[in-house]
Amino acid sequence: MKTVKKVIALVLAFVILAAATSCSNNTPVPKENLINDNYRNYYEIFVSSFCDSNGDGIGDLKGLISKLDYLNDGNSNTTNDLGINGIWLMPIMPSPSYHKYDVTDYFNVDSKYGTLSDFETLVKECHKRGIKLIIDLVLNHTSSSHPWFINAKNAAAAGKTSNPYFSYYNFTKESGRNNYYDLGSNGYYYESSFSKYMPDLNMDCPDVRKQVEKIAKFWVDKGVDGFRLDAIRYIYEDKDKSINFLKWFNSYCKSIKSDFYLVGEDWSSGSEITDYYASGIDSLFNFPFADISGTINSSINGKTGSDFAQNLASWQQQVKSANANAIDAPFLSNHDMNRSAGVLGRDPVKEKNAASIYMLMPGNTFIYYGEELGMLGSGKDENKRLPFLWSSTKSTGITKPVSGADNIQVIAQGEEQQQKDDNSLLNFYKKLIKIKNQYPEIARGAVTAMELPDETICAYSTVYKGSKVVIIHNFSDKSKQVAQLSSSCGTANMISSLTPAGEGTEKPAVKNDTLTLPPYATAILK
Ligand code: CA
Repeated sequence: MKTVKKVIALVLAFVILAAATSCSNNTPVPKENLINDNYRNYYEIFVSSFCDSNGDGIGDLKGLISKLDYLNDGNSNTTNDLGINGIWLMPIMPSPSYHKYDVTDYFNVDSKYGTLSDFETLVKECHKRGIKLIIDLVLNHTSSSHPWFINAKNAAAAGKTSNPYFSYYNFTKESGRNNYYDLGSNGYYYESSFSKYMPDLNMDCPDVRKQVEKIAKFWVDKGVDGFRLDAIRYIYEDKDKSINFLKWFNSYCKSIKSDFYLVGEDWSSGSEITDYYASGIDSLFNFPFADISGTINSSINGKTGSDFAQNLASWQQQVKSANANAIDAPFLSNHDMNRSAGVLGRDPVKEKNAASIYMLMPGNTFIYYGEELGMLGSGKDENKRLPFLWSSTKSTGITKPVSGADNIQVIAQGEEQQQKDDNSLLNFYKKLIKIKNQYPEIARGAVTAMELPDETICAYSTVYKGSKVVIIHNFSDKSKQVAQLSSSCGTANMISSLTPAGEGTEKPAVKNDTLTLPPYATAILK
């Protein structure tokens, strides 16, 4: 069965390849076509652990602003910056918790992080550097200390169900319902999907919808370029209703700012994620490929490069059939997962290999802060959100770990040290991002998997506006050869390569129409 499938796939690959080749040319994509689209290399930041400007041990917006040049200094000739061009800030609004996923005021910045005026400066400084700034928006629930909930709670206790705030939340007198907590007065229970301190908003309430519009408008007017939408599958218990909510929210945001970007968090299966793409929001995080058991990590461990290429092509096809304008959002790990360096066995070669694999996937990649340094963290959530290590010898700007962290793992080389080490993970990430920015086909193209005889080799083409790039990864720990390169991959012209084993080791090379790929290496052809 598998062989038959492979033959069909092979024939299909050749047909598509031939079609793609016939219209391909090497004309670079005009710059003006790139500037206005929503394709970016994003970087996720937990402000509290990024950079502290005033010595209280808590990261803040001023600290972040002081480090923007590390992320992107706005000058393509310098080499000290990472080169990302999008930032996702985890929640910055006032909140009683350290993580701030329970908001008490949607129209302000938490005072520990700074002020609205600091935020305006941040927006300006990001835009100056060509960085899009998106912020976390938590609409499923508020904090139980939000004035809306306090009013609603008091109304429920007094039996005043006509109070407008009563309908902001979901109250019932029926006991034993899932995710409902006892209010402790007047026999009421309230819906709270995550914890009793995070009551769910009632999105059927017209006043809540008006508030949601007001919140979105407020931040759009502050200059943000998009939202990362938290916990979208919890907005309603019913999936179709949640999708309809997103449809409505997406139209509203785009009616104020046509290129406003929305990326949703739906931590679930691939088929549910593609269902949510029907809402029209630009992106959904690619959970099926991420984390310990995701496609990227399991393909690395199983050395199944060929399957990876097939999975990638089929995933893109599913996503695009749900929404032709969808932008996939791949990542290795985020603030809720064990850090990828630990998952990959703290093996720098494997970390670089994993970085090559996911950063070259189509779409908007999301680097979790510190991942580019190989930072570690697992177990309790607090451990996954440790201070960014600016230097291993100086403490300037380095925050305190958030309270509750019980396993503080510190890596050997901080940012300062990795800048000076040609073989560092940081310098590897910089190279990858540069390649991605140089060849727009990589993020934007339509993927076709190529079937090569060796199952450890991942090969696929990606075609954008008639221009084709071919990406070939070696998923194995052995040096491999791809013979008859021009016929099997449509080109033997290697434009770039990546060697996780580092300087002084064998590099990918093309000779006599044969590509030699050292262990875990990547070749990019055009
Ligand atoms: Ca501070």
